[in-house]
Parts: sequence; structure tokens; C-alpha cells
Amino acid sequence: MGHVKLFIPGPVEVSEKILQAFRSPVIGHRGQGFKDLYARIQPQLQQLFYTRQPVFLSTSSAWGVMEGAIRNLVSKKVLCCMNGAFSDKWLDVAQRCGKEAEGLKAAWGSPIRAEAIDARLATGQFDTLTLIHNETSTGVMSPIEEIAALKKKYPDIMFIVDAVSSFSGVKLPFDDLGLDVLLTGSQKALALPPGLALFTCSPAAFARASTVSGRGYYFDFLEFKKNAEGNMTPSTPTLGHIFALESKLEDICTEGLDNRYARHRRLAQVTRDWAARHGFTLFPDDGHVSMTLTCVNNGAKPGGRIVDAEKLVSLVKKRGFLINGGYGKIKGTTFRISNMGDETETSMGELFAALDEAMKEL
Ligand SMILES: *Cc1c(COP(=O)(O)O)cnc(C)c1O
Repeated sequence: MGHVKLFIPGPVEVSEKILQAFRSPVIGHRGQGFKDLYARIQPQLQQLFYTRQPVFLSTSSAWGVMEGAIRNLVSKKVLCCMNGAFSDKWLDVAQRCGKEAEGLKAAWGSPIRAEAIDARLATGQFDTLTLIHNETSTGVMSPIEEIAALKKKYPDIMFIVDAVSSFSGVKLPFDDLGLDVLLTGSQKALALPPGLALFTCSPAAFARASTVSGRGYYFDFLEFKKNAEGNMTPSTPTLGHIFALESKLEDICTEGLDNRYARHRRLAQVTRDWAARHGFTLFPDDGHVSMTLTCVNNGAKPGGRIVDAEKLVSLVKKRGFLINGGYGKIKGTTFRISNMGDETETSMGELFAALDEAMKEL
């Protein structure tokens, strides 16, 4: 069987153009050629993050920078917002880094509410907050504007936002939101191969980091900052990704950011329409659905149709498309379809045609 096209919520399908850029000849990472490449993509990356701060490139998957953010910024205690498998993991990571940490839990399928965060931060116990904008396991998007607005009330608390599965599919204006760290990975909505993480930090985050010990070396934000001043990364970067990123930024520029966000919104809607057409309901609470992936309810909560998710996944796979049969404790009782990256009405239409045929065979 040939290549099975990816419609899972990461990694997502990577275009031929990007794969070609990815396999560019290796260059020296301390030479002028690399510094020029780094300097060339900075302004575009800053546009994508809506920031005047430097945007850093980490040779790691997103978890590297997530762990780094904890090690760089938490000195007193971190409040970890938890409403799904990825956000739950933040608490675990913070504890494994030896930090004082507390979870703020919402039900899987529900968003994180600003009021709930406010109530905990008001205790004065915390100096850092972690939030996942788009919980990939449940397909829930939390109200980032409302939550970020709390930063005005708590200017000394570091707001770390994981936008791994929404970044570049949804507008996230870092400076205007007033966040302290915004991070993402290459293999989700950016539609690059896995292995690169991108992030930016506020001046306050650098100031905090300079007071925190135990930052280590590989993910020390101050090392990233120092090296960025010379258009370099702290250690030898994954060069293929950076060539691929330049090529992707070209694509994003051509499409236009607002068009890119609108396309993701439309494709999430057509995916929800497909689910509704087949009698399914959605797992997320009304009004909090993701714009980059759809988590279909398949018995995890009352209402709607229930099918054999594993069989559905395998029937669609036979037709050349990979969707995901649910994650963590909602594996099988949900299934997920991604519309991240380069997808179009046409490419999603091909997936829905295969899904329609598969549904008849269940
Ligand atoms: C995929 C994902 C991660 C993990 O990213 P890795 O690249 O595997 O480290 C973290 N957070 C969210 C929200 C994700 O979707």
C-alpha cells in the first residue's frame, strides 16, 4: 500500500514542496549562510507571532520547550490548567522538574474559564500559570482573550501558553494578549515534519528567568536570547527544518494570515457538518470547539450515534487516509479528524468521501 494521508491531529501531512526544502544540503550553523537564513525568517516569524520579541527555534519537539518554560520561569509555584490529556501532562512535567505545582481541573470536553483561574491566582500562592489554548485530546479551545486579560490583574505571574495545535491556524497576537511565553511545534498546523519547536518570550519572562536557578543549558531561555542576537541557535539546530520553515513562511505569506485563519475556520465547520450529517454529536461543549481539529463524540457522553471507532479508522485507512480513534481515557468513545495545515475544501472532500464509504461498511 502507498502513503496513507494524515488527517490525525499531529503529525499532519507535509507537502512535497516542504519535503524538498527539508532535504536541502547541510550548511555550517555558525557560518554566514546560516546567519543570513536565520535573519531572513525572523521578521516573518515575528509577524506570525504578532510580536516585537525574538522568535526562537528549538531543536526538540514541543515538550522540550514546555519543560524549559517550567524550568526557566517557576520559582514559587505553578498553576497548571487541566482539561485533557496534554494539559494534564503539564502538571506531571512541572512536578518532575521539582517545582511546586497545583492543577486547576475542568471536565474533559469543557474549556478553562477565566473566573476559575482568577479565583486560584487571587490566593497569592502562584508565580506562573500554564494553559493549553487548544486541547488536542478533546478538541476544545479555551477562551484565550478572557484568560489573557487576567494578566493585567496579575502582572507578576508568568502566563505560559501552549498553542501547539492551534498556532498559525488561529490568530494569537502574543504582544497584544500580553502573554509571557507562547510555544508551538512544527508538526501541527504549521505542517512541517516533527522535530522543531518555536517559541517567544516577553521581556518579563527573560527578567524572571535571570532570577531562577536550575534552568539547565539546552533549554535556557537566556542562552536562546544571547545566541539570537548573533542570528544563531545555542546548539546545532535541525537545519532541514529551518529550510523547510522558510519555505512554509513563503506559503503562509502568499496565502495571507487572515485567509489562513478563515480557511481553518471553514474546514473545521465542514468537518463538524460531516459529523452531524451522520448523526454524531461533538465531544466539546457548545461554543468551545477547536478550529483545527474535530473531536467527534462516540459514546463518551450521552447523545448521538455510536460506531466501532477502531473499525472506522481501519476502513478509512484502507482507502488511504488516517484519522485518529481517540486519545487517552476517551480512546474509542471519541474519534478525531484534523483540518490543520495545508488542507482545502477539495482535500477534505476526498477524506469525507472515503469516510462516507467506510460508514456504509460498518
Ligand atoms: C502535540 C501536542 C503537544 C506535544 O508536542 P510534541 O511535539 O509531541 O512534544 C503538546 N501540547 C499540545 C496541545 C499538543 O497538541
